[in-house]
Amino acid sequence: MQFRDLKAQYLALKPQIDQAVQTVLDDCNFISGRQVKELEKSLAEYTDVKHCIACANGTDALSLPLMAWDIKAGDAVFVPDFTFFATGEVVSLVGATPVFVDVDTDTFNIDPAKLEEAIIKVSKEENLKPRAVIPVDLFGLPADYSAIEKIAEKYDLLILEDGAQGFGGMLKDKRACSFGDAASTSFFPAKPLGCYGDGGAVFTNDDELAAVMRSIGIHGKGEDKYDNVRIGMNSRLDTLQAAILQVKFKAFIDYELEKVNQAAAFYTEKLKGLVKTPVVPEGYYSSWAQYTIHLENQEQRDKLQEDLKKEGIPSMIYYKKPMHKQTAFAGAGMDFNEADFLVCNQLCDTVLSLPMHPYLTEDDQHRVSEVVRRSVEG
Ligand SMILES: *Cc1c(COP(=O)(O)O)cnc(C)c1O
Repeated sequence: MQFRDLKAQYLALKPQIDQAVQTVLDDCNFISGRQVKELEKSLAEYTDVKHCIACANGTDALSLPLMAWDIKAGDAVFVPDFTFFATGEVVSLVGATPVFVDVDTDTFNIDPAKLEEAIIKVSKEENLKPRAVIPVDLFGLPADYSAIEKIAEKYDLLILEDGAQGFGGMLKDKRACSFGDAASTSFFPAKPLGCYGDGGAVFTNDDELAAVMRSIGIHGKGEDKYDNVRIGMNSRLDTLQAAILQVKFKAFIDYELEKVNQAAAFYTEKLKGLVKTPVVPEGYYSSWAQYTIHLENQEQRDKLQEDLKKEGIPSMIYYKKPMHKQTAFAGAGMDFNEADFLVCNQLCDTVLSLPMHPYLTEDDQHRVSEVVRRSVEG
């Protein structure tokens, strides 16, 4: 059994993917080919956002807006404590200070009440200017944007949605990657919509921001490629990856998103009462980047992972270490109080992500569920 079965997906889509790749090879338009523009257009339509700018990976997709907003040393950017490293890394990369905020125990996403507390604390005590917040749509579930938008407005913060795991998710009638002032996603192969290498995209309704981000992604280009008006970087999506994504995007909207939601419902039906299953609050729709259960304690979690492994079933711990405990952030002048991160610390010890992808069979899910039952009951 695969944790995320990319091979099954390739086999299902092979004729179309091979054809799409062959077309790029025949045309030899490897950089900024028409497929990139076409993909940007369909992703913008799907998310109902005015501009989609493809780039080299999901980390660059976070850096582009931060750079365009001139977020820099002396600025504070609020980031959930429970996320992939890149969400905090990009803040430090532009010289600003990431301020980690605890998460909600049910949704795993940034806790709006704690966000407000952190903003007030930073405004009062530290020599930092609150500038932005990067809510993450963790494991496919959009963050609580209704609450976050109110707080951001109150304290005049920019919102950058980290939709690396969220593409395809929804909150009421709005899709992930359409929240905040800008949003980013990743096409890393294991993400809900993945390519065959690295890739990413950034979304915004702001014309001026879009123009600046396009420029930054191509060495700060001005009117033409050899007129450079700012310091930028080289961050483009390969035409090959765009062509592959066009095929995969169609499968994603035609059936894959529905399949992962069916798989999640199946797991939840089998596992409820045995372990804490993922919570999808009213009005939310998840794209199930991960199906993450919550065990009673670390011992039970580690035993379950062992028991699954013995049966040849892969599982992953997302995430083992909170952001505030990452070595890279140690000594960055930030003093952390463990009491501020009770939920995140506990999640890191007790969560486990089970195999989840659109090609998972009910037989496989049944097998996984039975091992979970035996492990936690026995
Ligand atoms: C994967 C991921 C990223 C980074 O994406 P890359 O394409 O790997 O650079 C950023 N944020 C989150 C939450 C992620 O899961």
